Amino acid sequence: MGRSDRILSTLNTEADPEIRLHEQLQTAGSQPRAIVLFGPPGSGKGTQAKMLRDLLGIPHISTGDMLRERIASNDALGAELRGLMKSGNLVPDETVNRLVEERLLRPDCKNGVILDGYPRTLAQASILESMLDRFGLTQLVIYLKLDYTKVIRRIAGRRQCPRCGALYNLAVTPPKTSGICDRDGETLVIREDDREDVVRERLDTYERQTRPVLDYFAASGRRFCEVDSAEASAEQVLAKIRGCMVTE
Ligand code: AMP
Repeated sequence: MGRSDRILSTLNTEADPEIRLHEQLQTAGSQPRAIVLFGPPGSGKGTQAKMLRDLLGIPHISTGDMLRERIASNDALGAELRGLMKSGNLVPDETVNRLVEERLLRPDCKNGVILDGYPRTLAQASILESMLDRFGLTQLVIYLKLDYTKVIRRIAGRRQCPRCGALYNLAVTPPKTSGICDRDGETLVIREDDREDVVRERLDTYERQTRPVLDYFAASGRRFCEVDSAEASAEQVLAKIRGCMVTE
């Protein structure tokens, strides 16, 4: 049974307090929500986003995944994006904003979305606010806090399935068979931008361009919640995120 199946299976009995929590998660706040997962590389945004998607039944929008899909098309824009990502730099705001806007316009977003890796600059944060107002979504920012020394250690153990995108961490969530994806049997790979020198560059980019967005969120008066992502397991981090959601 996968992690998300385990979470859902805990929601199956009438008497289970988890069910009440689940109902609260779905109904807290009157407007559908955009849950913004914010934090440095390796803070667990992708893992938490997938778990929340399975729990809440709303789409997971990862700008990193969308850009990697674009790269796979092998055209001139894809090659340019690959160069930027491989060196640990950000892709231009206009490119990412357009991708996100096109995605938010799709009908499956009307009941809420989970944003993973967006916004990453002040300009993106400001555009996102206006998009969410336009689409009738309220913003809940979850800041996954993680020490940079832990970031480097975590990313060193990260592996990804090139076919289905499943993420593993050799220390925390290893695959059942070493080097092989549990879901489709594909050989796992290390992402090009997970090499240690690139991770250091990505952290530098985060510090210069992305971290200032935290102050922007704080000043915006919209909902903001900080979660320590150094917890022992992804489930424990998820429990804290759920706590933020029901206390809204
Ligand atoms: P991620 O998978 O979220 O770690 O993103 C991988 C890479 O994609 C980043 O290091 C950036 O080069 C690029 N990227 C992802 N999201 C954004 C964004 N919101 N703005 C600019 N570049 C992005």
